[in-house]
Amino acid sequence: MAKVLKTQEMERCIACYSCMQACAREVKKSFSLQYAAIRIKTRGGLQSKLIADICRGCTNPPCAESCSFQALVPRKGGGVKLIEDKCTGCEKCIPACPIGYIKLDPTSEKIIMCIHCGICAKYCPHEIIKLKEVR
Ligand code: SF4
Ligand code: SF4
Repeated sequence: MAKVLKTQEMERCIACYSCMQACAREVKKSFSLQYAAIRIKTRGGLQSKLIADICRGCTNPPCAESCSFQALVPRKGGGVKLIEDKCTGCEKCIPACPIGYIKLDPTSEKIIMCIHCGICAKYCPHEIIKLKEVR
């Protein structure tokens, strides 16, 4: 069955960045957090609540539709698979994502896309991130 990342009880997040480190290190083979496909950040303002910037795994992903190079292929269950060789870094998918998740990798100049592998969830000490089965 297909799996998609979900977050719950973000108020328990302590911004330890373990999820970001795990993604950068294990998936992107880098020690730099700027390459992580999950980003923990504050909402800004006085309350400064923490949020996890993750791909929501849309079932009809608008990012895939916006790509003229077929670099984003819809995944079974939601989200997209990035075909890196096809990504030109044109940035057309960036405004297409309704939650503003998509960012450009500053080195490759292709986008950074979550693969919903769940490595980040494994390293979260508070079990805030979960890999959930979807139909
Ligand atoms: S990147 Fe954005 S538009 Fe594409 S599947 Fe994820 S949440 Fe949806
Ligand atoms: S699911 Fe994989 S790619 Fe996505 S944030 Fe977690 S570790 Fe990174």
